[in-house]
Amino acid sequence: PLRLVIIGGVGGGLSAAARARRLNEQAQIVVLEKGDHVSFANCGLPYAIGSTISDQDKLILNKPKSLIARHKIDVRIRCEVLKIDRESKTLEIVDRSQGQHVHQLLPYDKLIISTGAVSILPPVLQGQEHATPLQTINQLGEILKRLEEATCQSVAVIGGGFIGLEVVENLSEIKGLVLSIVEAATHVLPPMDDDMTGPLHQEIRKHNVNLHLETTIDRIEKDDQGKRILILKNGSNVPADLIIVAIGIAPVSILAKHAGLELGLRGTVKVNDFLQTSDKDIYAVGDVVSKKHLVSPDPAFVALAGLANRQGRSAADHIFGTLKGTKPFKPAVGTAVVKVFSLTAASVGFSVRSLKMMGIESQWVTVHPPNHAGYYPGAKQMTLKVIFCPQDAKILGAQCVGAAGVDKRIDVIATAMQAGMLVSDLADLELSYAPPYGSAKDPINMAGFVAENVLDDIVSLFQPEELRKGGGAGSPLFIDVRERSEFEAGHLKDAVHIPLDSLRASLHRIPDKEREIVVYCQVGFRGYLASRILRNSGYRKVKNVNGGFKSVSSIE
Ligand code: FAD
Repeated sequence: PLRLVIIGGVGGGLSAAARARRLNEQAQIVVLEKGDHVSFANCGLPYAIGSTISDQDKLILNKPKSLIARHKIDVRIRCEVLKIDRESKTLEIVDRSQGQHVHQLLPYDKLIISTGAVSILPPVLQGQEHATPLQTINQLGEILKRLEEATCQSVAVIGGGFIGLEVVENLSEIKGLVLSIVEAATHVLPPMDDDMTGPLHQEIRKHNVNLHLETTIDRIEKDDQGKRILILKNGSNVPADLIIVAIGIAPVSILAKHAGLELGLRGTVKVNDFLQTSDKDIYAVGDVVSKKHLVSPDPAFVALAGLANRQGRSAADHIFGTLKGTKPFKPAVGTAVVKVFSLTAASVGFSVRSLKMMGIESQWVTVHPPNHAGYYPGAKQMTLKVIFCPQDAKILGAQCVGAAGVDKRIDVIATAMQAGMLVSDLADLELSYAPPYGSAKDPINMAGFVAENVLDDIVSLFQPEELRKGGGAGSPLFIDVRERSEFEAGHLKDAVHIPLDSLRASLHRIPDKEREIVVYCQVGFRGYLASRILRNSGYRKVKNVNGGFKSVSSIE
């Protein structure tokens, strides 16, 4: 029988093993995992810091014993692969399961590498006691132990990405802890655009978390009482009895590298459409591989659990020759979601900023609709940004932040992207609606309508980020079309106030029909109506602020 060996027993590895067994009863399937656990929910680790998951055992989805009993999979924990010898098709392993280090050779016919990625430690934190990432059950245990000590009064979370935010939210349940986030970028969740993250910053600060943006750790010192303090490059001091690091990850591709397998972006293992490496008997899946991306011409580093699990399954399908296995693995789109206290942030595809860095031109629309009918109790405003190619209307990305209904909007757009739909197709999507769940025109439809209008040149958008360039000679005439009370509560510098309902009667105040005019309201709709009045009255260069004053205010 075929001997399938899998290196790594968590996300992709165990998916591959279980699928392989379901496809073939005779194959010898061996899973080698260097850690103490296989099949654990690494995505659930942050929730075991607070009280959301109070029983750590719940994170262990399968134990070796049950995998052996149910699936006849030879699961070996504390077994580290040291070397892949492709010539003899053998692995050199060290087995630490019995306490000693027992070196062995293990032959394979087919090999799947699912060694994942490891948290990057900045040099200043290397070798530092009390600085740890959160990737394993053991690291979780160390964090919990440290938190129980009376001397642990402060935690600094380094990195405001998905994991950093989850960690800090769960830490905030522990009374009396001084919490800080240190993030090098200008905003949390760097894969998103900065015009989306303002509400997240407010939410984080509202929960008494000190948020240090655009800075990193310069050095570590002790204060008068011998307590650890991080001195940041911007001069701030951050108390840090415990430091949890989540600044990013690097693929664990050392075995592949030494085996001479082809590597790609950031040291990831290169694979073909069937997840085979440059050696056709060796597959690689999950965080260790770079992924073909639906939006970018080049492969991307997308480390997500869903991809790892599905890739593991697909590798097994290819090895055992199912129909599914003859089909190429679909490109990634990077659909991600995170809970940030009472808000949710989700995204798919690339941000405007990332697209710019890749040299891909983009246009985008931003809407701020309620998550469900505004008249039904409990409606909460969300912000939805959809990014597309101005030439062919292909959807390049979307981001959404709000209190409810965020995940479903991004999931629908992710599905639309994968189905090859255009941004204008979002206008025509028939989505479920009853007042407690949505609106007759869903936020996704609304974004589609605006995008359609942009593509049809029914409206031109002025992007709030253009305000950063500042005014000066030749700067447009800004007209605020909101009501007086709204205008008085805050408006753009130098904006002229002409409420929408008075606009038609006030056109004599704007004699120059060739002048560039930018109108705005609170969220974009009245501005759109105003822009139509002006365009239909012969003003040729009229733009509406995308997302209105709300979007302007979100640019910090
Ligand atoms: P892993 O699941 O990391 O498994 C790799 C395994 O290989 C490890 O257990 C490692 O010990 C083992 N290994 C490495 N080298 C060797 C060797 N030489 N010999 C033997 N074994 C070896 N993704 C989401 O989509 N949503 C989330 O909400 C989410 N939350 C997360 C929260 C946290 C705290 C973390 C750490 C990750 C989260 N992820 C999330 C990412 C997700 O967990 C990964 O994308 C996924 O686990 C990748 O699967 P993998 O098989 O590639 O690697």
